[in-house]
Amino acid sequence: MARRKKIYEGKAKILYEGPEPGTIVQYFKDDATAFNAEKKDVIDGKGVLNNRLSEYFMNGLNQIGVPTHFIRRLNMREQLVRSCEIVPLEVIVRNYAAGSMSKRLGIAEGTQLPRPIVEYCYKDDSLGDPLVTEEHIAAFGWASQQDMDDILSLALRVNDFMSGIMLAVGIRLVDFKIEIGRVFEGDYQRLIVADEISPDSCRLWDIESGQKLDKDVFRRDLGNLTDAYSEVARRLGVLPKSNVTKPTLIN
Ligand code: 5GP
Repeated sequence: MARRKKIYEGKAKILYEGPEPGTIVQYFKDDATAFNAEKKDVIDGKGVLNNRLSEYFMNGLNQIGVPTHFIRRLNMREQLVRSCEIVPLEVIVRNYAAGSMSKRLGIAEGTQLPRPIVEYCYKDDSLGDPLVTEEHIAAFGWASQQDMDDILSLALRVNDFMSGIMLAVGIRLVDFKIEIGRVFEGDYQRLIVADEISPDSCRLWDIESGQKLDKDVFRRDLGNLTDAYSEVARRLGVLPKSNVTKPTLIN
């Protein structure tokens, strides 16, 4: 195979130049990091699971008319995506208090919020992705007012979609983070959901037991991360067939 040009290597993914102009190959690594890479490990199989799960969520979003960068999965660890210019914001949607919101506001983890709350963080690892307001975003020109209206609407549509499919398999979507990309079509620009949607970027709790099925398992040393992600994949029916246990027939 011809050598591909690496465009960018992040904490959990590598981006390569795609086979056609305007495309990128997104490779999912097994590396796990937390607390701005202060905690690191390699978790066997995480990349494969996140590739599958992100494919599943992005495909579903595309099908209901929420535009995403996802084109198709290429293999176990890679997917073909549209090249886009990433808006330098992490867009966080919260349905229940947890993580940094609980710390910041002193609200117990698991408290249902009166309505979904959308927060924005400025994407800068050296600053630890600080929380910013729409005032900062407008003043520093990170996104226009029209962009912010579109971003809010995309974030809430992703929240409705993800909450629904998780609820159907007994999982509570506590919160999640998405990234937004700009694509240019002639003179016209459009915003799409980019990066990944996976248990690395969501908080997912079993509705009955409260068991955590997301990256907090790694952040807080709560057990085996691939077991947690496999459970999410199994419930959604997205594990490769060979890993699905056959139902036992009882006469
Ligand atoms: P918190 O602000 O409570 O730490 O995170 C809120 C939500 O956004 C969680 O679901 C968390 O996984 C996700 N999130 C926040 N920052 C990042 C990040 O830098 N990387 C990833 N993968 N997820 C993040």
